[in-house]
Amino acid sequence: MKIGFIGLGNMGGPMAANLAKAGHEVVGFDLAAPAPDGVAMAASGAEAAAGAEAVITMLPNGAILRSVADEIIPAMASGILFVDCSTVDVESARSVADQAVAADLAPVDAPVSGGITGAAAGTLTFMAGGPDAAFARAEPLFDIMGQKAVHCGPSGNGQAAKICNNMILGATMIATCEAFALADKLGLERQSMFDVVSTSSGYSWTMNAYCPAPGVGPQSPADNGYKPGFASELMLKDLRLSQQAAEAVDADTPMGARATELYAQFVENEDGLGTDFSAMLPRFETRSRN
Ligand code: NAD
Repeated sequence: MKIGFIGLGNMGGPMAANLAKAGHEVVGFDLAAPAPDGVAMAASGAEAAAGAEAVITMLPNGAILRSVADEIIPAMASGILFVDCSTVDVESARSVADQAVAADLAPVDAPVSGGITGAAAGTLTFMAGGPDAAFARAEPLFDIMGQKAVHCGPSGNGQAAKICNNMILGATMIATCEAFALADKLGLERQSMFDVVSTSSGYSWTMNAYCPAPGVGPQSPADNGYKPGFASELMLKDLRLSQQAAEAVDADTPMGARATELYAQFVENEDGLGTDFSAMLPRFETRSRN
């Protein structure tokens, strides 16, 4: 298949390389990033999209997605598959999908989880929104770039699933970190804390699979000086998207709101920028109640 791939950064680069490695003809475009292995570069987004049977975008945010969509949609032939894998606000995802349908394209919003390592290993999870037929056409590409794809309903629902998941993730990481910091002050060994919680009702992915305490539980960014992993600023981005969505539909999300405030404080006013999102634990360690 001839695939146009726009946005070849930390995630898009290895995803495009995996498609090329699987035998697809991939033509890429990025404002700054270098050509991934096996990918030919075009001079513009429109050039990468023209003549492609499928176009994939992996961009930083909704505003950039909208401007790239304005540029590439007129260049795409009728019936072409348009898969956006960026994490963006639900409104931008739905608006771009409407624009694509009006141009007789087949849109899928398919944000991912699994991070940079998942992108490189081809083990991402895709959460997808869009028409059934478009999802069915995108599935073979998801199989190359990932290990699982869930069709969550109509356009925008992939983004909705992603931000709900990450709102849980952010709030749970904070809860896990503050509990470790409390346990420290109560004189509980971290290993004991892990052994109990990871097999009790407080267990979670953040405790069991991504433990924020160094030397405890499976290997995680905590064992590597809190180098990301999943950076705190990306967690903040997703939490903000969750609150933007919650405001749009008048949903009451007090834990999500508080998690957003805490990550904003951590990234913008403390030393959280560039650290893994589990570095909330050393943050709590150094704090008192006031
Ligand atoms: P990145 O900043 O490394 O890559 C984005 C790329 O888009 C950059 O190379 C940039 O030059 C390019 N770009 C920006 N504007 C462009 C334009 N108009 N035309 C062409 N290229 C343009 O970001 P990333 O880490 O690859 O993340 C991409 C998306 O994936 C984001 O929406 C992010 O939230 C999401 N995501 C990231 C991770 C992660 O761990 N990095 C995990 C899950 C989801």
